[in-house]
Amino acid sequence: MRRGAYLAGAAFAVLALIVASGVTHASVVKQSIPDLIRQADVVVHGRVTDTTSFWQGTTIVTEVTIDVKTTIFGSPGNQVIVTLPGGIVGDIGLEVSDTPEFQRGKESVVFLGNGRNGDFQVLGAVQGKVDVVGGNVPAWNLPLDEFIARVAAGGIGLEEHAAKPPGTPGGGGGGKGDKGDEACYLLCKIDWKRNGEQDNDGIYSPKLEDDQGGNWSINNNSQDWPNDDAALVAELGDSAKVWTDNAGARWSLGALNATVTHDSRLTNASFDGRNVVSFGYTGNAVAVTANWFYRNARKHTIETDFLFNDIDNDFGINVPESNSEFDLKNVAVHEFGHWICLGDQYNDSDFDHVMYGFVEVGETKNWTLHQCDMDGAQAVYGTP
Ligand SMILES: [Zn+2]
Repeated sequence: MRRGAYLAGAAFAVLALIVASGVTHASVVKQSIPDLIRQADVVVHGRVTDTTSFWQGTTIVTEVTIDVKTTIFGSPGNQVIVTLPGGIVGDIGLEVSDTPEFQRGKESVVFLGNGRNGDFQVLGAVQGKVDVVGGNVPAWNLPLDEFIARVAAGGIGLEEHAAKPPGTPGGGGGGKGDKGDEACYLLCKIDWKRNGEQDNDGIYSPKLEDDQGGNWSINNNSQDWPNDDAALVAELGDSAKVWTDNAGARWSLGALNATVTHDSRLTNASFDGRNVVSFGYTGNAVAVTANWFYRNARKHTIETDFLFNDIDNDFGINVPESNSEFDLKNVAVHEFGHWICLGDQYNDSDFDHVMYGFVEVGETKNWTLHQCDMDGAQAVYGTP
């Protein structure tokens, strides 16, 4: 439901927090078409006729209107409204990593779950939007009619037709970010330098400071760590240092505010003047990163937040490979890559990268940067 709470230019206004209804993504679990079908309330082929961004409390969301051309599953009617996190309103923009992009006039097949307000959410992050171009589905190397028939049959026999994984250019969802020349990393569309100045050590860091000092802070509203702030400070501090100490880039997250807050309402990407790691509902993503920017100065990030989704997932420390938990540090290092403004990569060949967009329980590979991750960080912030 649209809310008329426009805050044009009212930077850092603190309002009552409203939980975002949009699905947001960053680290996601890899899902097949049959997986998506099983979760979907509605699957349609349609064309985007409108996109509208607006403030929803202290966050920005975008509603996408899709005219339904073919109903594959469900009873959506002639039109569906899809709500996504992020967008630009007035002078302020919000980009949430790995959220599928919809442009007016473009067609796609979308796998949707019911939202909270009669709207829909895209399932599986970028995996839930499959681009249709000229009557064909490039990601699956099939004519649209045949792709629709196979989806309607439960996705049988699709895998052998996969041409490009979702999230890659031409693949489903359309990867975010601009690829540098022959680079093995992706950049987000905003950024280069944060609004921070070089500090005394010649290191760029976010300029924002908490009211109690520090450049970033932790809000422990987690179900998994209710009484253990110290563990969060240690693990998240270590996660940031993986980049600061090893990327070879002129970037530092700066000082972590040692005072952990416990605001149970901070469950979405909130434009509040603080860089905060928190816990909350993120749709079906394991964690999400939100970068705020000025519309007319897109190479400067104003504020960055990330959220762990511990409603749908369990997080642990030093989890063994057989565990059913996500390793907190493994996920956090990836999300801090988004703070640097690196984009998700989905090719199987990117598996060893921290910025590989899929994550699994028990995985700890992100404790160590890949050379491509270092190259990306250096491309954004330069070398010392
Ligand atoms: Zn990601």
